Amino acid sequence: MQTEQLGRIYPSGDGQITALRPFSHTFAPGLTAVVGPSGSGKSTLLNLLAGFDTPTSGRVLVGGNDIHALSEAGRADFRLANYGFVFQSHNLVAILTAQENVEFPLMLAGIAPKVRRDKARALLSQVGLESRLSHLPAQLSGGEAQRVAVARALVTDPAVLLADEPTGNLDTRTGQTILELLLRPASEGKTVVLITHDPDIAALASHRLRVRDGEVSAEL
Ligand code: ADP
Ligand code: MG
Repeated sequence: MQTEQLGRIYPSGDGQITALRPFSHTFAPGLTAVVGPSGSGKSTLLNLLAGFDTPTSGRVLVGGNDIHALSEAGRADFRLANYGFVFQSHNLVAILTAQENVEFPLMLAGIAPKVRRDKARALLSQVGLESRLSHLPAQLSGGEAQRVAVARALVTDPAVLLADEPTGNLDTRTGQTILELLLRPASEGKTVVLITHDPDIAALASHRLRVRDGEVSAEL
């Protein structure tokens, strides 16, 4: 994944906020930690990488594809095929069980029911939740729900995993478990981009970007 002069300016009243100054960077396989104070532009960056938000300058290339040049529907398909996401809150569908939540991206991708059931179970087992398949999100602890969210993000075997403070709402030990789950795809050569406030987590990353007032600099 690569950015070329990627930038974002938001209108604000009668002025503007430069949330992200144009920057070019190649995200190498492995874990890239994105650090920086609150309001510095980290989520703006992640949302642009994901194609959730539209840049005011530059582009994002994934496997040579300019994701913002795709149509809305094309981008949704591309995201489904290439990306996994984990957010600060788990964003699970409240009326679906853990297993159904993990199956959901596979269903959207048109995978046959038996195949997606087996895959979802395998992933939930990998995150230690084989005994929680039929639980609804409200019946899970915060850490369990976040593990389901990680399983959902990984079930499509995405090349790029984007995580915005996924351990932010969790105690240190639970956060550590989530982190270990994200380190696995990184060690398998996936591109994992992780926004974190936690210096201990950032220290584990193979690459690091620091964001200050919308300015991104590579530290590692
Ligand atoms: P971080 O994730 O590092 O806390 P953000 O990327 O959320 O920071 O925000 C960076 C800056 O952009 C902040 O000043 C924020 O207020 C502003 N901002 C973020 N999203 C929007 C938006 N949709 N409209 C206007 N301003 C925004
Ligand atoms: Mg943020």
